[in-house]
Amino acid sequence: MTLIDLRSDTVTQPTPEMRQAMAAAEVGDDVYGEDPTVNRLQDLAAEATGKQAALFVPSGAMGNLAALLTHCQRGDEAILGDLSHPYIYETAGLAALGGIQPRTLPNQADGRLRLDDIRQAIRPDDVHFPISRLIALENTHNRCNGAALSAAYTAEVGQLARQHGLLLHIDGARIFNAATALGASVAELVAPADSVTFCLSKALCAPVGSVLCGSADFIRQARRIRKQLGGGMRQAGILAAAGIIALQVMSQRLGEDHARAARLAAGLAELPALRVHPPQTNIVRFQLAEDAHLPAEQIVAGLAAEGIRIGHGAYMGFRAVTHYWIDDAAVDKTLAAFRRILA
Ligand SMILES: *Cc1c(COP(=O)(O)O)cnc(C)c1O
Repeated sequence: MTLIDLRSDTVTQPTPEMRQAMAAAEVGDDVYGEDPTVNRLQDLAAEATGKQAALFVPSGAMGNLAALLTHCQRGDEAILGDLSHPYIYETAGLAALGGIQPRTLPNQADGRLRLDDIRQAIRPDDVHFPISRLIALENTHNRCNGAALSAAYTAEVGQLARQHGLLLHIDGARIFNAATALGASVAELVAPADSVTFCLSKALCAPVGSVLCGSADFIRQARRIRKQLGGGMRQAGILAAAGIIALQVMSQRLGEDHARAARLAAGLAELPALRVHPPQTNIVRFQLAEDAHLPAEQIVAGLAAEGIRIGHGAYMGFRAVTHYWIDDAAVDKTLAAFRRILA
């Protein structure tokens, strides 16, 4: 039985082309800056995001943390969404390791922070207050059904940040999904940001790694922080080789994942027991209707018995994420299983 794993796009395995490139990768010691494959990945990432420089990091969490530690001093405040990844899913690294106080604002259903909320959260210059140093956005927004933030909205936040002397960081773990959904370039979407991270290891299928991008000076400092966090890697070109294919090849096919997510969502929405959020990208979230007669655990177990895995949590409800290893037949099989279980 081939497993249909819809829990996340992090489950994607490297493609055969990636494995070949990894085996053949030219490598060197990247802590010395001497790995040609890492250097090439970083150049390509800087180019794709329209930034001066880039840094290969082991994970998205380390990318976000290195960015925040580089931008903020201890006791500074970072403004971010209450459903944002760094606030919920990164084990409070910003507070524990950076001494940074998170100032959370309510994420709207479409992933945005309201401009008025941001304006009111920025601290005046007063000896009692922490210094508001940074605003962080997330694009696409994981907990907000994979919603994509537009270039126009991001520009407004960027302008607000500059007016008040704040920095803007974008957690762009799935920024290539956002660019695909909006028909925009990644560079356009992150133009107002001082820094951006994106993941190679999600829908882009690389086995490991994220990239942090920003100005040359920022990346020089972030490189030191990465070392401090234990993220200096040696012959990392083995991993970067897969990352290059992720960036150049796999980023071009995400529309397929979005189309399959839309088809999955439309099929699930026909079932009276489910309340489905129409997806904008590759993340389909849904809940049980109030009068549904089957507990969620039983649905998850029923699917697992048929070789189908989906995400479920008390707070988030169900989550199904489409990716390279989910084809049309997998969507059909998943819908058929749901119909049977909920009949
Ligand atoms: C996955 C993800 C990250 C980073 O995750 P890692 O598992 O550390 O690579 C960061 N932000 C968002 C929005 C994510 O979905």
